[in-house]
Amino acid sequence: MKRQFFKNDDNKFIIATVPKCASTSIKLWMYQVQFGEKHGGGVCKRCNNNTIHACVCLGELNDHEEVARYPYKLYSIVKDPYSRILSTYINKIEDGGTPSNTTKVYTIFENYMKGLGKEIKKDKDTFGSFLKLVAVGTPGLSDENHIIPQTELLAFDKLSYTHVGRFETIGDEFEKIKKQTEIGFGLPSKDKTKGRPTPTNAGDKLDKYYNRENFDLVNKIYITDFTNFKYKMR
Ligand SMILES: [Zn+2]
Repeated sequence: MKRQFFKNDDNKFIIATVPKCASTSIKLWMYQVQFGEKHGGGVCKRCNNNTIHACVCLGELNDHEEVARYPYKLYSIVKDPYSRILSTYINKIEDGGTPSNTTKVYTIFENYMKGLGKEIKKDKDTFGSFLKLVAVGTPGLSDENHIIPQTELLAFDKLSYTHVGRFETIGDEFEKIKKQTEIGFGLPSKDKTKGRPTPTNAGDKLDKYYNRENFDLVNKIYITDFTNFKYKMR
């Protein structure tokens, strides 16, 4: 797990980004705030690195100890725990199993399933097996950036956040952040035809992947996220 904090000294704010929670849009926005011009998303003309995620112009801070030294406003955007872990599962397990795109998470899970003599299928049972492996605290899996509780990723218990917004209402959240930081323009969109970032469809797929047992597993793994970010448990 590597926490991601980016700071802006002129407007005195820091944002902790969470993967798949508008992190691309947030970084593009911070770049524009900092330099007064758009990044464009491809190769950065300041640092020459590919994509906004590799750009080193954004004032990245090392970890929460460094963040705590700045008397700045601190923000983040988080996601509903049920759809966040489902979206990770679909992305890394169902879509991640091709030989050219095998991730560490996929390999760990594949070995676990082999040990159980089970096949990886696109169903509730396989998702449940994945959740069980996360629940026991498997290194390389449970502490991965897309899987670790957002409370941990944000160092929420160690830092004092000005506002933690929800991905589900990101338009409203960014209106707040804009006002508080006195920045005159809002979040850019990855998809220029739309007004806001493209949401994952995982939220609509809850019925297909969740049964009582899977809800209970997520409630147990992400209890701190439900409590801290006030998402409703099912
Ligand atoms: Zn750059």
